[in-house]
Amino acid sequence: MKIAVLPGDGIGPEIVTEAVKVLHALQLPFEMETAPVGGAAYAALGHPLPASTLKLAQDADAILFGAVGDWKYDTLARHLRPEQAILGLRKNLGLFANFRPAVCYPELVSASSLKPELVSGLDILIIRELTGDIYFGQPRGRRIATEGDYAGSEEAFDTMRYSRPEIERIAHVAFQAARKRSKRVTSVDKANVLETFQFWKDIVTEVGLQYPDVALDHMYVDNAAMQLVKAPKKFDVIVTGNMFGDILSDEASMLTGSIGMLPSASLNAAHKGLYEPSHGSAPDIAGQGIANPLATILSAAMMLRFSLNQEAAAQRIEAAVKKVLAQGLRTADIYSEGTTRVSTID
Ligand code: ATP
Ligand code: MG
Repeated sequence: MKIAVLPGDGIGPEIVTEAVKVLHALQLPFEMETAPVGGAAYAALGHPLPASTLKLAQDADAILFGAVGDWKYDTLARHLRPEQAILGLRKNLGLFANFRPAVCYPELVSASSLKPELVSGLDILIIRELTGDIYFGQPRGRRIATEGDYAGSEEAFDTMRYSRPEIERIAHVAFQAARKRSKRVTSVDKANVLETFQFWKDIVTEVGLQYPDVALDHMYVDNAAMQLVKAPKKFDVIVTGNMFGDILSDEASMLTGSIGMLPSASLNAAHKGLYEPSHGSAPDIAGQGIANPLATILSAAMMLRFSLNQEAAAQRIEAAVKKVLAQGLRTADIYSEGTTRVSTID
């Protein structure tokens, strides 16, 4: 089992080091090889995703990724910026399905942005399509408008676009994931306004016919954003496009207490995956040894489950995380004991 370890920038190296320690502790026959990515790779090799790093990722069975990005690279040309590395890996490896579970651990209920009764026992899964939508649609650019009220003015434009196979495959992923859970899928769209998402809704409905054991409902994204903070436990699996998924999964992260708790998996058709925390490189706290490593450690657990066929080992890691939280060991982002008690007695 070969794992490509790509620590990246900011807190990436600190949190990945801890996850690698956890993997070593399992004493399984992993072969782990580390390579630079993002700003670190630009500094060392002149490109955020050097050919050697991409090859390592392609040859490995799974990729454990930290985070990329740092202010000091903000002035680089777009194609050399650290963020291009993760976009390049997603595109090159065809990682179209992004899994972001939002689980609220009992010990962290009080760290959530919502009232305890709304999040206690929360366990939802957001599945975000990751390689299509307005983030990748062509054409895009800037030009002088030639028609309409603003003809003659500068304008910028992007293209929202989904093809049938892209929607079909993410819909299958969602229904199959729901079968292992509470068998409910909510497809989030904006079908009332966007043709792309009427198409999305039609195809998800069609695919749903092949999964009569899974309940499907549809929700507009604005309502979904509201329901996530009003009654998040009503959801089981949410499946949505790239942009809506980006926004909703960040929103969902705050229900769980901290973005430092949320793992993610990005899978391709062959179940090869890239596993990374949902948060970014947090340059504001890098190098201080205060970053929460649990999102990365839980991402390693997802890696064992989805790509390396090691369910028992994945459960061992998840049990260890629960134990650590139960023992009261916390990083600052989830350390809220003092206010906790007051707000619960209230
Ligand atoms: P990206 O665009 O890469 O997602 P971002 O701008 O959304 O990055 P993050 O790097 O995720 O930002 O950081 C957002 C905030 O959350 C920062 O204040 C950061 O310090 C904090 N944060 C992120 N990850 C952690 C962590 N693992 N532990 C503690 N705090 C974190
Ligand atoms: Mg972010």
